Amino acid sequence: HEPICECNPCYSGSDCSNFSSICSANAGSGDPYFLEPFWMRHAASSAVLVSGWHRMGYTYSDGSYISQLLVDHIKKLHKMVGNAITDERYIIFGGGSTQLLNAAVYAFSSNNNSSVSPAKVVATAPYYPVYRTQTDLFNSRDYRYEGDTSLWKNKTDINGTTFIEFVTSPNNPDGKLTKAVLEGNNVKTINDRAYYWPHFTPLPSPADDDLMLFTISKLTGHAGTRFGWGIIKDKGVYEKMLTYLDLNTMGISREAQLRALKLLNVVLEGDGKQIFQFGYSTMRNRWTRLNQIISKSKRFSLQKLSPQYCTFFKRVRDPSPAYAWLKCEREEDKNCSKILEGGGINGRGGSMYSADDHYVRLSLIRSQDDFDILVNKLTLLVTGKG
Ligand code: PMP
Repeated sequence: HEPICECNPCYSGSDCSNFSSICSANAGSGDPYFLEPFWMRHAASSAVLVSGWHRMGYTYSDGSYISQLLVDHIKKLHKMVGNAITDERYIIFGGGSTQLLNAAVYAFSSNNNSSVSPAKVVATAPYYPVYRTQTDLFNSRDYRYEGDTSLWKNKTDINGTTFIEFVTSPNNPDGKLTKAVLEGNNVKTINDRAYYWPHFTPLPSPADDDLMLFTISKLTGHAGTRFGWGIIKDKGVYEKMLTYLDLNTMGISREAQLRALKLLNVVLEGDGKQIFQFGYSTMRNRWTRLNQIISKSKRFSLQKLSPQYCTFFKRVRDPSPAYAWLKCEREEDKNCSKILEGGGINGRGGSMYSADDHYVRLSLIRSQDDFDILVNKLTLLVTGKG
């Protein structure tokens, strides 16, 4: 059967070719639809059929909530891509990496000594807002969100207080390969590596941090499956995170693990060349097109990213970030997202990322239609016809 396709809401007609000019460009959320065409081409090999009687119990046959077969696939994947060291590391699964963010904060902050002040959770702007909002939501006695790392640089020596620094590399929203800012024995880092894949960044070397988080949301594009994993050096930290996962959700849905396994099998085919070549060339083309438009403008600019050697492609490669971190250059354009909205473009304002509202994040990982509409609207805005 031919798939029955629906038109993007901005298009109509039997072949979806009539564009509605009143339609806005959706460059807001990070839904990774850019990989949908890849999975359409691999529809049969990635399909999952689960019979009603299959795996009804809580655990796998070894009594755990974690599929060892999936752990092995994840290790094989990292080795093949060369983006993380997994030998002699513990692997844990979460409901997306979102669940693991707090599991990691819990593991780094839990202590039995109530006289020690709560751990200080920090990040460097512009940063992914969930680090703050989730930490605030749980409102724990053991940890508290304490603002930007710039407030604490060279000030981490507060008797016994633990600092937990979120490091996102490549960073959401600006795609930069970042490093931890704070130093000291009492500083723990949670390295969010959601975008450390060949689609989005050159891979200079395999990451080897104490605690790294990954997600299939940005690897295969299956954000709805809600499957992420952590790679952990320290056994004690791993065990605390396991306790969190056990008490919170009794591990991850077996169906999610099965789907992840099926998808990773396709990713692993041909040493990953197919998906990563597709992902990289799609994202690089988008970045090139965007730069062509914005370079004609004095009013707007984009973050600067340079070509760099990539150990996966074994050559110097162009940037291909997941998001544009666009700046309205004029001082009076203090609300850049309003200006873009006026031109029919919906992005996310800088203050969401604890940055200045002269900035806006534009998602480049949505569908080709969404990107084409974005290009169309931006061109009109830059040429003054919008
Ligand atoms: N970390 C970063 C930096 C992200 O951008 C996202 C998703 N947008 C996540 C974590 C969470 O991803 P998920 O829960 O889907 O694995």
